[in-house]
Amino acid sequence: MRNITVKSSLELTQSQKQTLEKGLKDRYGEDITIEYVIKDILGGLIITDGEKLLDLSMSKDLLKIKKEAERIINEMHAASSAGAQLEKELTPSDIPAFLKFNLGNIVTGNLDIDICGKVIDVADGIIRISGLSSCKYNELLLVNKDTYAIAMNLEKDRVGAMLLNNIDKVSFGDIVYATGKTAEVPVGQALLGRVVNPLGQPLDGIRTLFTEKFRKIESPAPSIVDREKVSRPLSTGILAIDSMVPIGKGQRELIIGDRQTGKTSIAIDTIINQKGKNTLCVYVAIGQRAGEVAKIIRVLKENDAFEYTCMVVSAADDAPSLQYLAPYTGCAIAEEFMYDGKDVLIVYDDLSKHAVAYRTISLLLKRPSGREAYPGDIFYIHSRLLERAAKLCKQKGGGSMTALPIIETLEGDISSYIPTNIISITDGQIYLERELFRSGVRPAVNVGLSVSRVGGAAQYPAIRKLSSKLRLTLAHYRELAVFSHFGSELDDNTKRILEQGEKIVEALKQPQYQPMSVLRQTLILYLIANQLISDVDKKHLGDFLTKFHHFYYSSYPAQAKELNSGRDLSDNAAATIEVACEQFKAYYLASLKKGGLP
Ligand code: ATP
Ligand code: MG
Repeated sequence: MRNITVKSSLELTQSQKQTLEKGLKDRYGEDITIEYVIKDILGGLIITDGEKLLDLSMSKDLLKIKKEAERIINEMHAASSAGAQLEKELTPSDIPAFLKFNLGNIVTGNLDIDICGKVIDVADGIIRISGLSSCKYNELLLVNKDTYAIAMNLEKDRVGAMLLNNIDKVSFGDIVYATGKTAEVPVGQALLGRVVNPLGQPLDGIRTLFTEKFRKIESPAPSIVDREKVSRPLSTGILAIDSMVPIGKGQRELIIGDRQTGKTSIAIDTIINQKGKNTLCVYVAIGQRAGEVAKIIRVLKENDAFEYTCMVVSAADDAPSLQYLAPYTGCAIAEEFMYDGKDVLIVYDDLSKHAVAYRTISLLLKRPSGREAYPGDIFYIHSRLLERAAKLCKQKGGGSMTALPIIETLEGDISSYIPTNIISITDGQIYLERELFRSGVRPAVNVGLSVSRVGGAAQYPAIRKLSSKLRLTLAHYRELAVFSHFGSELDDNTKRILEQGEKIVEALKQPQYQPMSVLRQTLILYLIANQLISDVDKKHLGDFLTKFHHFYYSSYPAQAKELNSGRDLSDNAAATIEVACEQFKAYYLASLKKGGLP
């Protein structure tokens, strides 16, 4: 026997009671008793049977609207007292959109399914709920009308979920509503130049975020027919990468290395290099120190790169649930641009911390643990994320999303669990080596272990031609360099190769935040390939190359423009570089002889 209580504000009519009775019998079977209670709930009904509850009352709706209105007013007060201004003045015609956005920052529209459950266990940001039998995997749940959670474990008689906000305000017995939706975040142009948290709420404390567009944080990757071959280069501005591990638009290239080997710097340089190249950027910080993130924001601002970049930040002290969501949120923001026909670059810094956050959630949810205590679906959480990066075909707008996931290794071990997973998902990796970094080779790219499986097809023709032998020459040099340590007598040929190798390593060194143009890369690669730098001393090489670039740029502006386009090198262009190099070298070496740098 099931006892059901129906609360209403007015006495129900006989026919209403009959309809209700029929509906309840259809749902629960014949064996029920119904008690009708009159209560001041303004309108609508509340139906309970102990645990399950159907709240269709008007008071609930009003309460929801009241709370949201209070939150908006508080936010606006806070913003105006901080001296900030709304992005634009609200006009009466904006109000429906404004309300729609603000009433459902995550949940848009009305909650249509109101079957409820109760919290029966809460600890460490994880809740267990009884009575939510209709709940689906990954569904957004609403606890106490202003706290959100995502359903992660669907068990026979309970649901395990991770809380997204108000983690310490949820307690035993709180009511949980299933929303019938998955989490959504605001997307669109308004996100550029902003810092948001993984729920899409602004963290920069300036203007209110004003956008009408929302996107689900999890959505299927583009299908095979919607994709196209990677064919256009995405210049990182880092010579060692653009020449030997080129990246194409729509590619996924892993940046991997020990801690403090310059992984983030490569990603930031790449973002800075997109200035004026019509490529938007999304940087996702996962579990990083707030100070580190602040530094990145400052660098991007100083280099005028912030206005085309969106930062999604989950700091190290954020709950694991937020750290877990961050990359999906960033991906949704980037995806919107991609489907809009634009080129986007997204950096996930870093996915090792993301894997750790997911492991924490899984262990708290008491899922069985596998290798290194990671849950069984650890591969899937990254593959479904990275598969969303693509180059779309023309019919789909031709946009692209290039992904640069970052992975931190321990003691250079790239064969451990998470690194091998990501290596197998991505289209290549840039391996940064601690030894190289320590010895001053920066960026510390280990050419032997780095590879780009699709980018070669997208490389600028001139750069491809000039760097075709570079990788081999360097590998040969490294091999001989190891042997030369044994101190044996070296023949002239070996000495020459070693000397040439040292010069190349020197020429490939590049300071931070100074991405190189295609012109500069072409010039350096031309000088290396044609051994025009053999008579410049190693310690002056960096200075020589910089000044030669300036000299060429100012002396041959028309040719410089052509070279900068990356088109195949004509005989004419090659001859001009040779002449310019001879001219400049004579002048440079003469000045050195006189005792000073030119
Ligand atoms: P973490 O593991 O802490 O995230 P990381 O691998 O991301 O570190 P970065 O923070 O990018 O490394 O760089 C580490 C240090 O190396 C920084 O102090 C940075 O300034 C310096 N660095 C990085 N690249 C270069 C470079 N090309 N030239 C000179 N210094 C560099
Ligand atoms: Mg870093």
